[in-house]
Order: sequence, then C-alpha cells, then structure tokens
Amino acid sequence: MQIGIPRETLPGETRVAAIPDTVKKLIQAGHQVRVERAAGLAARYRDSDYESAGATLVDAAQALGAELVLKVRRPDAAELAQMAPQGILLGMLDPFDLDGLRPLAEAGLTAFALEAAPRTTRAQSLDVLSSQSNLAGYKAVLLATQYYGRIFPMMMTAAGTLKAARVVVLGAGVAGLQAIATARRLGAVVEASDVRPAAREQVESLGGKFIDVPYETDEEREIAQGTGGYARPMPAAWMARQAALVAERCKQADIVITTALIPGRPAPVLIQPDTVDAMKPGAVIVDMAVERGGNCPLSVAGQVVDHNGVTLVGLTNLPALLATDASALYARNLLDFLKLIIDAEGRYALPADDDIIQACLVCQGGQLLRSA
Ligand code: NAD
Repeated sequence: MQIGIPRETLPGETRVAAIPDTVKKLIQAGHQVRVERAAGLAARYRDSDYESAGATLVDAAQALGAELVLKVRRPDAAELAQMAPQGILLGMLDPFDLDGLRPLAEAGLTAFALEAAPRTTRAQSLDVLSSQSNLAGYKAVLLATQYYGRIFPMMMTAAGTLKAARVVVLGAGVAGLQAIATARRLGAVVEASDVRPAAREQVESLGGKFIDVPYETDEEREIAQGTGGYARPMPAAWMARQAALVAERCKQADIVITTALIPGRPAPVLIQPDTVDAMKPGAVIVDMAVERGGNCPLSVAGQVVDHNGVTLVGLTNLPALLATDASALYARNLLDFLKLIIDAEGRYALPADDDIIQACLVCQGGQLLRSA
C-alpha cells in the first residue's frame, strides 16, 4: 500500500505518526511510504533518517493523498481537502466528538479512532491512550517540580533539614499511576484517590497511600466498578464524601496532580475553589484533565495561573512535550493496529467480528458509524 505520513498542523502538536524505525518496518512489509518533509522535525526525527529508512520525502498534498494516512490528530478542513476520496485514515480522532467526525465521513474516508480501542490484553500493544497517558503522567510531575519552589526528597543538610514534598494524585489510572511512581522516585510522600476499588492495590504497590472513601450502598459499589476498565459518574453522595476527604488531603499537600476522567463526559470536579483557597502558599496543582473541563474549576487550559500563591498548571497536550518518545510509542501502536487491517499479501482487508476494529472504526463509505 501507499502510506502517507503528513506533518501535523495543529498548533503545539510536535508529535509525528511514524518514526524512521516504523517506516523501515512498513517498507520491509512491502509498502511504499511517503513522508512529508519536516514531518518529524519537531519530534527530533530528521528527513534524512526517514529517507535512509526507505521513505520518499514529499509535500503535504502527496502525503495526505496516499491510500492510507497515519496521523496524530484529526485532519482539519484544509487537510481533508487534500485527502484521497475513499482513503483510509488512522489517528487519535476524538471518537466522542461527532461533529468533528462528520466531515471525515462526508469526505468518504474509512477512519479508525485509536482512542476507542477496548481495554483488553489483545489491544494493549495498540493502546494509544495508555502509551500517551503514561508519558503525560511522568511529565506532569516534572512540571510540578518546575513550578514548586522547594525540593521533593527529604534532605538533611548542615544548614537544616528539608521535608519531603507531600503529593496527592487524584485519579489512579494510567497517567495517575505513572505520576505516583515518578513522584515516589523523586522522594515525595504520595497519597492517591480513585473511584475504582482495583486502584487501591495498584497505588499501594507503588508505595502510595490510598485515600479511602468507603462505599455506603450497593449502588455505589456497583457503579465504582466502572465499565470496560473505565470509571462511571459516581452518585452525588459518594462524590460529596470524596470531596470532603480530598479537601482535607489537599490542604496538607504541596503538589496535587489530577487525572480523573470519565470517557465521553466532562471531567469530574474534584477540587473546589474554596479548597484551593485553603491550600498552602507555594503549592502546585497540575490539572491533567483541563482539556475536558478540568478537575478544578480554577485551572485554565493552556495556561499557568497563580491563585493566592497556589500555582495551577493547565498546560495541555503533555505528551507533545516529550515528542520523541511519545511519537515512538504512538508509531508502534499504529504499526500494531495496521496488522489487524492489512492481510498477508499487504492489502487492506477489514476483518469481520473483530472487537478492536468494531470499536475503532468511526466512519466508512460516507457513513458516520457513531451516534450520540
Ligand atoms: P481515564 O484516563 O479514563 O481516567 C483516569 C482515572 O480517573 C481512572 O482511573 C478513573 O477511575 C479515575 N476517576 C474517574 N472519576 C474519578 C473520581 N470522581 N475520583 C477519582 N478518580 C476518578 O482512565 P485510564 O487511565 O485510561 O485507565 C482506566 C483503567 O483502564 C485503569 O484501570 C487501567 O489500568 C485500565 N487499563 C487497562 C488496559 C488493558 O487491560 N489493556 C489498558 C489501559 C488501561
């Protein structure tokens, strides 16, 4: 097949959907790969390395016009206009945003949104949410160290002893668990909260303390199990008890990293403004849910704001700050996904009854395959 790798055009998007190593594998499998000039530059992959891997360097129209296009972000109108009718597109296409997907269907594309893959063992190697959230969780802690005027580990010096930082992580999924591990490695004392009961053991195995919000009814216990590995919105009574406990822990904390998300919904509010008012001066909140509305209403997407001495870091797209590694993992996720839709002869073939394909295929033959 002809496979195109365009340069990403969304402002701040530094990642690229293929790296020289994955291009080489695609070429070994018999495909032709067209890489747009400078596609990998922001992620520190040189044109010459793509060429050495066997790719042809092309302009945007030739990369987007390929039979199969690998992207990081959903193409915008200008990009769509350059894509081949009946082209195949793989990317992080935001599968819950139906208005954003409709133009892809209207353009006649067959499009796969990789974020929609199920959380199963078979899907693990192509799980873009995991590969990217893991890096984001790491980066969130490093961002916190940057805005925090103190150090993380306890340090005994001749001039006095410095206390270890107290870190609270809200949401112990992929990003949260990596944030816990990273903060622990830096010597912080870490506590974490999640709705899902399975999170307790994972938090504790990383050396964190679980903030326990006991379930008081069968309904709470049942909802907390989530669906398909994901959280569901918890009943108001549980959320109120969690808010009270979280507020107490946040008042003692130096750093709060929030990662709580519920697929297809706004992020749950876990830190109320009055909790921020009660936090210590110099404390830092990194709100990783800010693109979905935020776990704290005071955080602002794309900005670092100061609220009475508490810094709220609302920077978005944290994986793009680690573009080299984020691209490498993402490119391997795509390579694994391609194995599902390309047959032994190297031709596109859509398997029937494949749960990963069924979950990720968002449009085909002019039809949008998702509904609200
Ligand atoms: P996510 O990004 O959707 O959400 C982040 C975390 O926020 C989740 O742990 C969620 O439970 C939590 N959360 C939601 N509402 C909350 C609230 N009110 N208070 C506190 N926490 C709240 O989730 P994710 O990181 O993508 O992972 C979700 C689960 O899927 C995890 O258990 C993870 O281990 C699992 N997973 C499984 C696989 C696999 O088996 N292939 C792959 C990746 C993730």
